[in-house]
Parts: sequence; C-alpha cells; structure tokens
Amino acid sequence: MQTFSIAIHGGAGTILKKDLTAELEAAYNKGLEEAITAGYNILEKGGTALEAVTAATVSLENCILFNAGKGAVFTKTGTHEMDAAIMDGRTLDAGAVAGVSAVKNPVELALAIMQKSDHVMLSGDGALQFTKQQGLQIEDDAYFFSQFRYDQWQLVKNENVIALDHNIQTEKKFGTVGAVACDAHGNIAAATSTGGMTNKNFNRIGDTPVIGAGTYANNATCAISCTGHGELFLRAVAAYDVSCLMEYKGLSLQQAMETVTLDKLVKINGEGGMIGVDAKGNTSLVFNSDGMYRAMQNSKGEKQIAIYR
Ligand code: ASP
Repeated sequence: MQTFSIAIHGGAGTILKKDLTAELEAAYNKGLEEAITAGYNILEKGGTALEAVTAATVSLENCILFNAGKGAVFTKTGTHEMDAAIMDGRTLDAGAVAGVSAVKNPVELALAIMQKSDHVMLSGDGALQFTKQQGLQIEDDAYFFSQFRYDQWQLVKNENVIALDHNIQTEKKFGTVGAVACDAHGNIAAATSTGGMTNKNFNRIGDTPVIGAGTYANNATCAISCTGHGELFLRAVAAYDVSCLMEYKGLSLQQAMETVTLDKLVKINGEGGMIGVDAKGNTSLVFNSDGMYRAMQNSKGEKQIAIYR
C-alpha cells in the first residue's frame, strides 16, 4: 500500500536548549503539532499533497513564533517583506511570490498564482493587486508586528549585517516555514514561506520563492523545502540539486539531501537545513546548524516533533 507522509520545518539556526525556556519550547512544539496535524488530517482523508502542504504552511504562517506571515522579521528599513513558493510534483506546476507586504498568507497567494494566473512568480504592486483580485486576505502593519522581532532588528539594525532570525542572540529565536508531503496517490508537493532575514536590504529576495533553490517538487524524484542563509542556497541551487542527484546519480532521498546539506552547502558556509519526501512516502529532515524546528508524520504510524540536534 502507498505510504502517505508529511514533514514540516519552522526554520534552522543556532537553536540551543539552554536558550529556550520551558514555556517557549512548549509553545514551539504546539505550533509544530498544530501544523503537522493540519496537513496530516488532509492526507488521511484522501486529500492531495498540494492541499496538505498548503494547510500546514498556513498554520505556521499564522503562528507568531515563526518567521512567516504573522511575526515576519524586519527589513533594514523596518518593513516586512515576505517570499513564498509552492510546487506540485505531479504536474511540475509552480507558483511564487517575492517581496510582498500586507498579504496574510503568502503561500495561498503563491498557490493562486500557480492555479489562476499565467505566471510562475509575481512581486511588488502586481502581486498585491492579484491578491485583492483573488479575494485573499490583506492585513495592516500591526498584524505583522511582533515585539521580539522588533527587538532582534534593533540589535543588528545599525551594523551592516543580515541575520537568520534564529541566530540573533536574543532570548527568542524563530524561523522560516515549509512543508513537503506525499499523498495516498503517490503525488508529492512542497511549499515554503518566509519573512526572509532580519535587517535584509529592502527588496532583497532569498531562496524561498526561487523554484529549484528553496523549493522544488517532482514526482520522479523528491519534494524539498529549504531553510537557512538564502544567498548560499540560491548559489547552490539547493533543492534542485537534491533532485538532480536522485535523477542522474540514483542516490536515495536521504543520501541526496545529506550530500547537499552536509557537504556541498557546508563547503560554501551555507548554514541551514531542508526537509524532503519522495513518491514512496519516505521523509528526511537534514540540517547542518545546531537545530531545526521540525516534525514528520506518516501512515505507518511514525511521528516525530523535534527542535535540537
Ligand atoms: N532562507 C530564508 C531566506 O534567506 C531565511 C530562513 O530560512 O530563515 O530568506
């Protein structure tokens, strides 16, 4: 019987047990639990991988703990600019959005771009106009504001640095989100959504919305969602490289993800991680940082929610 499965991440980085209070750890686990359940319930009812990754990602976007949607990080100029992408491994259809503000759930916008426009990626005013045309929810600045992200930004604002939000040495560290799933029909999909990196230049675009870099799905190989230092994941074409290693070299999902994350990315100082599934329902969660907020569940009864190495 076909195994169905889902994996999610909430960002990777310097996430150490000593830096998290028990309350905060419990809150993260709850956020991860809610998201994995939202996605898994869809798969259990015979829903598609595409529906499952969308639901799980929306759940994470709506949780203020994670750097996507509500609670997105601040750019150098104090704005929130979000990137997201989604890809259907069955058809190779993809949708992406870059640098949008005000959109409550950027992953839903990416899905609408994929399903209801002639394009793969929209940005700026065109993306906002399309959001409104599609009747997707818009929020004001106050919705995206979070005090801890503001405090993180204040710490690095006057220095010429950008930071993975979970690497900033404040009490709280949070991250980008994503989901990959394989449904009961053996179709796979991937979605990723992010506020990007704290203190990033305005209009900077990371790996998340770039198909093949931060997000990729192909039934013939794998579905991948990445998190980490976007510039390096872009240069590594990380998600597609995993697919290529499987397609051209015959590596397994696990071997391919380890080659990219633990070897190729490490060689260029590309800190972060990724989650993946293949069309047999195998899941893999690999990272080269101290931790990655992550979870997986499958129809064989396996389930894991974890934060640290
Ligand atoms: N990859 C994201 C970016 O560079 C950041 C993250 O994963 O936390 O925009």
